Amino acid sequence: MKRTQNHEARDQNVSASDIRANLNDHHVRSRTQPVAWTGWDLLNGETVPTLTVVLRTRGCYWARRKGCTMCGFVCDSNPSATGPDIYREFLGVLARFGKEFKIIKIFTSGSFLDSEELSPDVRNAILAELKDVPKTIIESRPEFVTDENCEEIARSNAHVEIAIGLESSNDYIRERYINKGFTFRDFIRASKAARSSGFTVKSYLLLKPPFLTEAEAMRDTIQSVKDTTEYADIISLNLCNVQRGTFVEKLWKKRLYRPPWLWTAVEVLTQTAGNMPIICDPVAGGMRRGPHNCGICDHEIVAEIRRFSLSQDKASFKTTCADKVLWNFVLEFEEYSYGAPLVP
Ligand code: SF4
Ligand SMILES: [Zn+2]
Repeated sequence: MKRTQNHEARDQNVSASDIRANLNDHHVRSRTQPVAWTGWDLLNGETVPTLTVVLRTRGCYWARRKGCTMCGFVCDSNPSATGPDIYREFLGVLARFGKEFKIIKIFTSGSFLDSEELSPDVRNAILAELKDVPKTIIESRPEFVTDENCEEIARSNAHVEIAIGLESSNDYIRERYINKGFTFRDFIRASKAARSSGFTVKSYLLLKPPFLTEAEAMRDTIQSVKDTTEYADIISLNLCNVQRGTFVEKLWKKRLYRPPWLWTAVEVLTQTAGNMPIICDPVAGGMRRGPHNCGICDHEIVAEIRRFSLSQDKASFKTTCADKVLWNFVLEFEEYSYGAPLVP
């Protein structure tokens, strides 16, 4: 990778947590209620109904200490949450939506397995409630996916999948550009611990962290999918979007960052499909802060990416648009623009 204007910005060493420290209260959306919604996802090749619950815990410890460059989850935390409150709120969601879902996702905007966020008693009680659900997805940083924690939650008899935000298999990119604070080896160790307790593993990959050109980002994600195949059962491709109060937002405001093109996502999905399930929900797709193309074809392509996620069928991608010429130009020439996006 060439050294670029963006790399200079990185060297200013402004940490994500420094930026958040300057956030107004107005930006910090501390909430005391869990958020829940229903949807569809892929389970053993079938499209199944899902329930997603975001519990308002104190949030990710890493976000408070250093933070990842693209993550604004700290804005969704509730620093004063107590275990009994969280459990009561979780039961409230079940009372409202029921448990008749094939997949239930329990997210905390942090790590479900971090005892500082959710005490072992609370997390075990939550999982015990879900033991008859075919799949319960929880998220965790790898340092909490230990043999001890896995053996403990396995006693709940829930069918757990542990989702880990690997983002990239490239240690340099993950460490220097995302500030993730763990290595690919840490991910592999966590994956083995999860699998030895009978759990499946989902790996989140991030398309287009800051400081990469469009072409570098595409190559990095395609390589990451290949490297991860052995250690994950499913990949969730996250298309980077510009969240408030993040380092990425700071770059974006200076026109030093552009979210990925939807064409890049389509190319990654097309090139990697078939080896293992790979799903993608283009959050903020078609918006300036989200992955986007020219504005004319975005809506159709976002829908096709969602269709592909549920079918894994490359034939889902049918749309063509004149801006593909522009995207190809960006892929070829962006490295000569010293890292600045050529097209907004
Ligand atoms: S991306 Fe994950 S690990 Fe990084 S700060 Fe956000 S919640 Fe924490
Ligand atoms: Zn277009």
